[in-house]
Amino acid sequence: MPDLNLLKQILVATRTEWDRPSTRPAVRKAFAAVLDCGTAALGWELYASDSEEKRCYHRCKSRFCPSCGYRTTLLWLEKQEAALPDIPYAGVVFTMPRELWSIFKRNRHLLHDLPDLGARVIQQWIRIRYGVSVLVMVVPHTFGGDLKFNTHLHILVSAGGLHESSAQWIPHLRLEKGPLMRMWRYAVIAHLRSALRAGVLRSDLSTQGLQRLLSTAYQNERHPRWIIFLHKIVSKSHFLRYAARYVRRPPIASWRLLEVTDREVVFVAKDTKAGRLVRTRCLFSEFVRLLAAHVPDLYRHAIRYFGLLAPSAKGNKWAGLFVALSQTVKIPPPRLSWRDSLVRYFGFDPLIDSRGQEMRWVRRERLVKVM
Ligand SMILES: [Zn+2]
Repeated sequence: MPDLNLLKQILVATRTEWDRPSTRPAVRKAFAAVLDCGTAALGWELYASDSEEKRCYHRCKSRFCPSCGYRTTLLWLEKQEAALPDIPYAGVVFTMPRELWSIFKRNRHLLHDLPDLGARVIQQWIRIRYGVSVLVMVVPHTFGGDLKFNTHLHILVSAGGLHESSAQWIPHLRLEKGPLMRMWRYAVIAHLRSALRAGVLRSDLSTQGLQRLLSTAYQNERHPRWIIFLHKIVSKSHFLRYAARYVRRPPIASWRLLEVTDREVVFVAKDTKAGRLVRTRCLFSEFVRLLAAHVPDLYRHAIRYFGLLAPSAKGNKWAGLFVALSQTVKIPPPRLSWRDSLVRYFGFDPLIDSRGQEMRWVRRERLVKVM
């Protein structure tokens, strides 16, 4: 399990810089949650055996928290592994030129529309080309390997689709980079242009300046930076492991924090271009600033589901999909309890005392505020 301590140390040291009203509310909430996670601040359950007592502190359940985010990912994986049909899948990454990153950083309301845009592009192209519906999962990301703001989408799509009127499953769809890239590029620029026209795009540039920037970003064919990666993924579990790397994880997994001095942090950044890991050193305040940009806004989902995976497709459509595939709908197992998930994933039972005796739940407790 990732170690929370280094991150906590940094957040404590910089508390006056982020714990104030001008900070984006989601950032303040997420950072405070990480600090309170697993401490008396969130209350605890009291357990006891004949000879011992134990407090089990509540966790913050924040997606941003290395420890809670990790456990949620494992539970998510298990649920998807059970529910998804056994078919081949493919992974697609939609990127955009770097000039646009800062626009999305400044205009977070536009950031939230990207998963819809990406999913629509994939679905439309497949529908036009093959006339079928597919399963689509989108994981929006705001960071690259170096923690800088870099907005892109990881899209997971079934490599076969359902022909809905004939209820036939069409296997082996082939995705084509060129047309997908052009549709994605058009969708993003059209989206930003309409935001500009509607007066909801904040920027230090003038309207003309922004229009020029969008045109340049759209037309720059010589150095095509609307890069699209396609990954063929054969099995469902391979597909899910790929997805889990991008889901519900804080932007910097704890293993990449190497050491913390009294004002500096040393971490491993990934230089994607050169394809290598780089030891990077920066001041706490700079590190926290980088990190804060990646805290998702409140009530935003880490994963979005579209097409045959959309919440509206559950029910008859979902059942029809399994009939077309000649597979049976699988019922995911009930979510593991806190205790069972620790036993399963981390190999220890939190409710066995030092003499091997089982502890029983006594009551829930919390700190009492002294006036
Ligand atoms: Zn937590």
